[in-house]
Amino acid sequence: MPVRLPDVSVVVNQLKSLNIEKNSTTTSSSNKPTAAIQPKITKKQSNKNIKATKNPEPAIAKTSTASNQTNSGEATVNWKLSDFDLGKPLGKGKFGRAYLAREKKSSFVCAIKVMYKDELKENKIEKQLRREVEIQTHLRHPNIVRLYGYFHDEKRVYLILEYAAQGEMYKILQSKGQFTEPEAANYIAQMTNALAYLHKKHVIHRDIKPENLLLSADGKLKIADFGWSVHAPTSRRKTLCGTLDYLPPEMVEGKDHNNAVDLWSLGVLCFEFLVGSPPFEDLSGSAATYRRIAKVDLQIPETISKEAADLITKLLQYNPLERLSLDLVLEHPWIRKHVPDPYKA
Ligand code: ATP
Ligand code: MG
Repeated sequence: MPVRLPDVSVVVNQLKSLNIEKNSTTTSSSNKPTAAIQPKITKKQSNKNIKATKNPEPAIAKTSTASNQTNSGEATVNWKLSDFDLGKPLGKGKFGRAYLAREKKSSFVCAIKVMYKDELKENKIEKQLRREVEIQTHLRHPNIVRLYGYFHDEKRVYLILEYAAQGEMYKILQSKGQFTEPEAANYIAQMTNALAYLHKKHVIHRDIKPENLLLSADGKLKIADFGWSVHAPTSRRKTLCGTLDYLPPEMVEGKDHNNAVDLWSLGVLCFEFLVGSPPFEDLSGSAATYRRIAKVDLQIPETISKEAADLITKLLQYNPLERLSLDLVLEHPWIRKHVPDPYKA
């Protein structure tokens, strides 16, 4: 039975309850603990040695009860830190650290992202975090990291996330240099499916890049970071102080934009997967990158196949309306050549 999800606007209205200012209540999103965190993995309970070779999708994502809970938005649970064993640190982001974790009762392995309230306030990103949580909680897709719930204490906010055992796509790409064409085509098909799902829900990601993609234990791509989805471009932290490489012309030029921004980023991602660096990167600085994007100064190396070059060119169109649609990406000869069933990549 398909899980029906409300539009983002509905989600936002339903979930006004997330309030990181208050210390008293620890209200989670919508999942009951025993359902959201399913027994499996290992019976051994050890703080230091959390094994996470298998991480099945929790029952809540598959059952009709789950969809009922999701749609009603009524089921709540009070998670707390002592419900979890914390394991190794998984990494550090700008505003938080992620740890491997296991829910004690069920032994379900997950990742917990910890952020300090003071830091969130100092950087004025509480609203943004709320939006991220509101959106991500309601997404159910094999190529999108699940957000099972959240809680907070006096000083910190905790997000309970699906664990992506192989970690960052960016690091894997760096260690390999670039992906082979079949590998890249597979990832692009997965990415396209995830974006089609998001766009259907009226969510624009706006921050597609290898740094925001994780890989599961079985090598599936997982979109991980919704910090910039459905946000005005001016509020984009990474636009202002990070890389411009994935921004489309309409955003660098400060024009209105729509979900076609993600089509552009998909083209940039495809290029970076195959070449190892993004197409408009200019080592002399961001002003130069800016100019190259606005001119669509695209040079595709000879080493890239004609079919792949064709897909990249059709996505990296200055005019958002002329970019290849997600449906047609999945039908593109390069994807068809390398991915047996692109809709289930
Ligand atoms: P920023 O907040 O600056 O965008 P980020 O998104 O990289 O940074 P976090 O989400 O805080 O930061 O995560 C930090 C790191 O922890 C990630 O780069 C990744 O390596 C690891 N990590 C985060 N979430 C998970 C997860 N669900 N599964 C596995 N590793 C994760
Ligand atoms: Mg990030």
